[in-house]
Amino acid sequence: MTFGKMLWADGEELRIYASILANTRDAVIITDLALKILAVNPAFIEITGYTEAEVIGEHPRLLKSGRHDRAFYKDMWASLLKKGQWQGELWNRRKNGEIYPELLTITVVYNEQGDPAHYVGVSTDLSQLRLDEERFQRLVHYDSLTGLPNRMLLEVRLQHTLERASRDGTWAAVLVIDLDCFKTINDSYGYAVGDILLVAVTRRLQARLRQEDTLSRLAGDQFVLVLEALHEYQESEIVAATIQEALEGPFTLPDGGKIYVRASVGISVYPQNGDKVQDLLIGAETAVHRAKELGGRQFCYYTSELNVQARATLDMEEALRQALEQEEFVLYYQPKVDLRSGQIVGAEALVRWQRPDFGLVPPLEFIHAAEKTGLIEVLGAWVIRDACRQMKAWLEKGLGEIKVAVNVSARQFRSSSLEDVVAKTLAHYEVKPSDLMLELTESMLMEEPEEAVARMTALKRIGVRLSLDDFGTGYSSLAYLSRFPIDQMKIDISFVRNIVTDPGSATIATSVIALAHRMRLGVVAEGVETEAQAGYLRQNNCDEIQGYLFSKPVPAEEFAELVRQGVRLSGQEAVRPSRALLVVDDEIGILEVLQRVLANEGYKIFTAASACEGLELLAKNPVQVVLSDQRMPGMSGAEFLSRVKILYPDAVRMMLTGYAEFDTLAQAVNEGAIYKFLTKPWEVDQLRTQIREAFLYYEEVTGYRGEGVYPK
Ligand code: C2E
Ligand code: MG
Ligand code: MG
Repeated sequence: MTFGKMLWADGEELRIYASILANTRDAVIITDLALKILAVNPAFIEITGYTEAEVIGEHPRLLKSGRHDRAFYKDMWASLLKKGQWQGELWNRRKNGEIYPELLTITVVYNEQGDPAHYVGVSTDLSQLRLDEERFQRLVHYDSLTGLPNRMLLEVRLQHTLERASRDGTWAAVLVIDLDCFKTINDSYGYAVGDILLVAVTRRLQARLRQEDTLSRLAGDQFVLVLEALHEYQESEIVAATIQEALEGPFTLPDGGKIYVRASVGISVYPQNGDKVQDLLIGAETAVHRAKELGGRQFCYYTSELNVQARATLDMEEALRQALEQEEFVLYYQPKVDLRSGQIVGAEALVRWQRPDFGLVPPLEFIHAAEKTGLIEVLGAWVIRDACRQMKAWLEKGLGEIKVAVNVSARQFRSSSLEDVVAKTLAHYEVKPSDLMLELTESMLMEEPEEAVARMTALKRIGVRLSLDDFGTGYSSLAYLSRFPIDQMKIDISFVRNIVTDPGSATIATSVIALAHRMRLGVVAEGVETEAQAGYLRQNNCDEIQGYLFSKPVPAEEFAELVRQGVRLSGQEAVRPSRALLVVDDEIGILEVLQRVLANEGYKIFTAASACEGLELLAKNPVQVVLSDQRMPGMSGAEFLSRVKILYPDAVRMMLTGYAEFDTLAQAVNEGAIYKFLTKPWEVDQLRTQIREAFLYYEEVTGYRGEGVYPK
């Protein structure tokens, strides 16, 4: 049945409707209640590609695209049944398989009795509209020559980048890339060649960029690159260098001729140079002009101080390269000392640069630059070689086998040649692999922990030992720590510095010691400068120390001399147990009286005139009972005893006070910082008894038996 025939009623009006349906560009489809297609109009035939004969009697599902789920059709039917109509966009499939978008309206047609009789669907093919829309978007947002985003889209993207950078606390950079001498090329070869060149330049740049970086073309020969999520702004220099590199080779012209293109790059950095789109664009454009003025084929930052730094890095790179050639590096050795025997058990090799006109340059001033420029691999290999050469020399001089640790940088650790360098060097100098230790830092292992486990395992296979340097400063996960095949942990200097007075540092240090021992690893504390620090570490079972207290890093000859003379760390004798009492009071008179009163009790009595002095004495000497005055300038007795509680949990703490300062005392008691109060003035016998009881209490709790005879 055709459309015209379906309109069986007579009359002008109906003929007009029939004409409209036959001529409209919208597809019309009529079905019965069972969805059997009864009629379609010519536009339907044109849009779907089916002939009338192919669809009459069929179900409209033959147009189904498969892009909509059940819920979509369920909603459609719910609306049809409820409101008698449904309208929406949907995807259909033409006979040739092509999927197209359409706007469809389905209406229920009722018969004279008011019952549903037919469904009528009217749909508009949206595919052309979509194409037009896309083309329009492209025209508005993209450069027609290169297909790159234009200024308008660039600004939108840059705005997003800045918002993200502000949220994530990362750096972002805008790079304006300007081709040097492009005008000359345009003038001498014509615009057509200029255009071809711009397209070729675009392709080369695109091939070298990360997906997330937006490259756009502003005008003529100016490109803009937006870099986001930078960890440090200097990464933009690396990209600037990549751009120069990408343009290095010749471009081939349509006539077969070759042409060379160079670029200047101007960089502005978020947040230093502003947080607004326009400011950063203007900054980068200003910078690119400066780069051109300087002769082209280079990059410039917008801010001068960044330029100074960039220049310094370049200069440093050159200087380091030369230093390697001229052998200006030297290793110093810092002894590692055993805390029980006081003997030297090895050394850490620390690199120095004897830079002409600069003197001895410490590693922190050049390791980073070496790492950044990749020179670290050469330098690191030299360090390993020179340390092994020295070990062999010491052995030949009769000094015995000296164990040496060398530091390995992150990049060196990741490089595939490390294993090879280590194995070959050991073999070449005939050094026992277990005498060489590699110090790795926590942060470099945690970067790619799985990979790190594999690399470490390979190094262990050679037989060298591994140490975890600067422990506590990174973010080790305990799960990995147990999988790292290490032999030793080094407690970072930052925890050692205040170990005697700061309970926080002390807790970390003692936890590291306990952790290491539980994992059957040795522990070394770095940066030990005072006897008190050494004493505290010794009392807490740290194995070795390294630091100025025993020796600074010294030249190989001096180190050999220390070994030859058998120099030892003093202080081990303090570990021997005895009954020791510490009395802290800022009034010297009281200290003297107490000493006299307790003279015959058989205690070793230490006296301190301040809390700090008290902490120092505690670090150096094992003490079982601490008696402190409350009122002292600097740190109060309550505060002092609270710290003692954390630093020396076993020590019995007593307070001597003449005043009732309720608040602080209550707090000290509540925190469990104090075992007993003694009041001033005291009754001599009572005082003696109280202190005796404190020692007995200590023994009971700890099972400790001090030497010597107890007073009865
Ligand atoms: P590190 O491996 O943690 O080395 C310990 C640093 O602490 C050394 O600094 C050492 O001189 C210093 N130090 C030792 N005892 C004390 C002390 O009692 N007090 C204080 N304040 N400092 C002390 P240095 O030699 O300046 O080396 C610094 C860092 O440079 C090293 O830290 C290491 O990470 C790196 N480094 C040194 N040599 C090399 C090397 O050959 N290769 C690599 N990749 N890095 C190295
Ligand atoms: Mg180290
Ligand atoms: Mg360290």
